[in-house]
Amino acid sequence: MSIPMAYMRGEFMPLADAKIGIMTHAFNYGTAVFEGIRGNWNGDQGELYLFRVREHVERLRQSAKIMRMELKASDDELVGQIHELAVRSEFREDVYVRPIVYKSSEVLGVRMHDLQDDYLLFLAPFGAYLDPEAGARCMTSSWRRVDDTSIPARAKVNGLYVNNAMAKTEAQLSGFDEGILLNQDGHVSEGSGENIAILRRGRIITPPPQDNILEGITLETALRIAREELGLEVEERTIDRSELYIADEVFMTGTAAHVTPVVEVDRVPVGDGRPGPVTMQLQNRYFQAITGRLPQYAEWLTPVYSGAAVGA
Ligand code: PMP
Repeated sequence: MSIPMAYMRGEFMPLADAKIGIMTHAFNYGTAVFEGIRGNWNGDQGELYLFRVREHVERLRQSAKIMRMELKASDDELVGQIHELAVRSEFREDVYVRPIVYKSSEVLGVRMHDLQDDYLLFLAPFGAYLDPEAGARCMTSSWRRVDDTSIPARAKVNGLYVNNAMAKTEAQLSGFDEGILLNQDGHVSEGSGENIAILRRGRIITPPPQDNILEGITLETALRIAREELGLEVEERTIDRSELYIADEVFMTGTAAHVTPVVEVDRVPVGDGRPGPVTMQLQNRYFQAITGRLPQYAEWLTPVYSGAAVGA
């Protein structure tokens, strides 16, 4: 039977049994860093493929380092535990794995030092986040993307995500699917949970890390597929809001959102207002890659069941 599982304090358990106390520092002050990893189901092969687990674990470690948090497990241990979590959960559909490194001490007082660090993992079924076929209708958020001088923007800090949550809620309550945040300089940074890219004159353009984006693993994946499979050129440079209105295509990338076309920004249609052809070609190759249908990208995948090294 499929059941969402968790790994906490060295043990696997049903997610429903994984609890923390209400005085936990991370719960009170957002002092934690996290990751999101997808497992993508391939029904034809009867296999679930975890996507780029090692890269997510590396980014988790970088987030922890920036926040001066100790992550006691090695990369190999974490990769193994994530795999075992998926094996034990037994899902035959798309799933999401959430690792969190957190300040586990149950004490009051705002700080990062002199506190215990711990980590946990959990898994839950997770379908589409944005609509990858219809595309996303976006608005420019009135909230600005948090600056690296306020909270490290390239770390996935739990507390930082209040910024993203405000943008997402503003967008949805205003009738849009997603919010696009500008940085403090007024340049395009990213979506509330996605990186953003535009296509102009056959080139893909994405904002650089110093525009306070999260250095996305899906973006890096999509850009590699764009270069290698579609022969497209890629450029990293600052993008202005008004450039979104005149781009030939706009798309978003993220673990949750995959590769999703943006069909409208601030009620201005992108191109003719339908998902762009290059974006859809890219999305198609990306979906093939993440579900184990492109052997040249097999190194990105951890097959959960056939590769099960676990006695479960
Ligand atoms: N930006 C933000 C703010 C995100 O939360 C995410 C999702 N992790 C991304 C971009 C995309 O990153 P990735 O492709 O690594 O999931």
